[in-house]
Amino acid sequence: MAILIGHERVISLLDRAVHEGRPAHAYLFTGREGIGKKQAAIRFACRLNCPDPDSDPDGTCPVCRRIVGGNHPDVTIEVPERGIIRIDRIRSLQSHFRYAPIEGRFKVTVIDDAHTMNAAAQNALLKTLEEPPAGRILILVTSKPYVLLPTVRSRCRRIRFAPLSAGEVTGILEKSRGMSAEEAEMSASVSGGSVSRALEMDEAGFPDLRNQVLSVLTDPGAVGITGLVEMSATLSSDKKRAADAVDIAATWVRDQIVGMVRGHDGPSNPNGDCQDRASSSAPSRFSARELMRVYDELLKASELIDADINVNRNLVFDVMLLRIARIMAGPTFGVTRHDR
Ligand SMILES: [Zn+2]
Repeated sequence: MAILIGHERVISLLDRAVHEGRPAHAYLFTGREGIGKKQAAIRFACRLNCPDPDSDPDGTCPVCRRIVGGNHPDVTIEVPERGIIRIDRIRSLQSHFRYAPIEGRFKVTVIDDAHTMNAAAQNALLKTLEEPPAGRILILVTSKPYVLLPTVRSRCRRIRFAPLSAGEVTGILEKSRGMSAEEAEMSASVSGGSVSRALEMDEAGFPDLRNQVLSVLTDPGAVGITGLVEMSATLSSDKKRAADAVDIAATWVRDQIVGMVRGHDGPSNPNGDCQDRASSSAPSRFSARELMRVYDELLKASELIDADINVNRNLVFDVMLLRIARIMAGPTFGVTRHDR
């Protein structure tokens, strides 16, 4: 069984529905990507069909193992093919639902990324939602529920999943991805509570990106104007990379400001790995007011990058990095001995 961390409230709600023998015929699991919604759906399918419904699905039970492995006749998982779930998949689900459960107590179908059902597929699904056969349970999983037809949404019981805490993301990265505590904490600190986001950042050479970005904030003098212009060109060449860079900087600056308010030894600082940089530079050299100005620059740049309409990203980055360097290093940045 894959590790499912967090979501205790949701899990106990679903467990209670099984325990009382009154699960809804259709569920809509919503919440941002990469937080474990699909895993929770599979766990729920285990609960519904496990011979021992009071045991926690932990990989020791052969029935649950087959459900998780996709080898149980009563549980199916639909995923998009080339980005779309088409009507023929929904028809096949309906024929699957026509017959009573073979081995288990319930026939369960999980539709992952349900928002990728095209309109025809959603309309076909409505029939099943309007006349739900007994003993069949449908679980729609999506990070974009607003894309679904209101008629589909309204016929499902909505279960909202909250983002994970940075600590929970760290735990998952350590246990299931074998990251070191340090790596995991670093990726988790900018994950926005999503494991998939943390992994994306990691795979994209996130530690390098982070070091680059933080060098401008903590020691712009050493980067120098030439280094700054080069960095601007690299960071702005790709929209996602540009957005990540701004996110990293904004997270760091926000944590410094929070740290100044609360004192630096509190457990609230999610950028724990930056303690050294933080305590050697920010509190002594920069005021909260300066950091707020940096934060404003980052927010402005972030809006321009997101809007992406006739924006020269490179120019946005040039201006943003130069302004930040001048706030952090003083107005003489760029005309110091480093660059003359
Ligand atoms: Zn079991």
